[in-house]
Amino acid sequence: MIADRIYGHDMVINFECQKCGALFDCDVGTVTLPETSDKPDFEKEIICPKCGSLSMDEVLLTEIGQSQLTEMSLGFDDDDILDFEDDELNGFGFYEAGCQGCDLFSTLNDFGLCEECAGKLERDLIRQRDWNYSALAYGVPAEKREALRNEIIGRYGGKLELISPKEEPDRKRKKKRRGKRKKSRGKG
Ligand SMILES: [Zn+2]
Ligand SMILES: [Zn+2]
Repeated sequence: MIADRIYGHDMVINFECQKCGALFDCDVGTVTLPETSDKPDFEKEIICPKCGSLSMDEVLLTEIGQSQLTEMSLGFDDDDILDFEDDELNGFGFYEAGCQGCDLFSTLNDFGLCEECAGKLERDLIRQRDWNYSALAYGVPAEKREALRNEIIGRYGGKLELISPKEEPDRKRKKKRRGKRKKSRGKG
């Protein structure tokens, strides 16, 4: 549940009085956005220097006032949305945890790898010509992949950095290229 959002404390907002048309700054205290409304709620009364206490319906936000509120809400939303998404992304996106490759506590990608290990994995994938799994090789035309691989190996060596060179589970991709054995049992 999202509680009332607090935009800010001790906020001074620029208003226009709808009664007398005066523009004035007003200290409205804490500004919240109630869960049930998209209109901000002010802790303190809005007071026109001429007309005195005004309701929300008796004032307009000036452009300045609007941008003051927008700035507040932006600052607020940034934090809030980031926090929220951090939670949401846990488990299926970038998140912070111990890296699968090096155990370093870091921001991990969806393979559970830190940036450095992700780079190692990339290079390993390319070393192994697992083009389909490599983000680096993605979109690289087939004829240029070998050049990419050579470049990687030239720069980082041919040894696998992250993937252990045991039997690869990926080799399940059996190519069904057995010669077609027609079972041509002569019918009846
Ligand atoms: Zn007024
Ligand atoms: Zn790592």
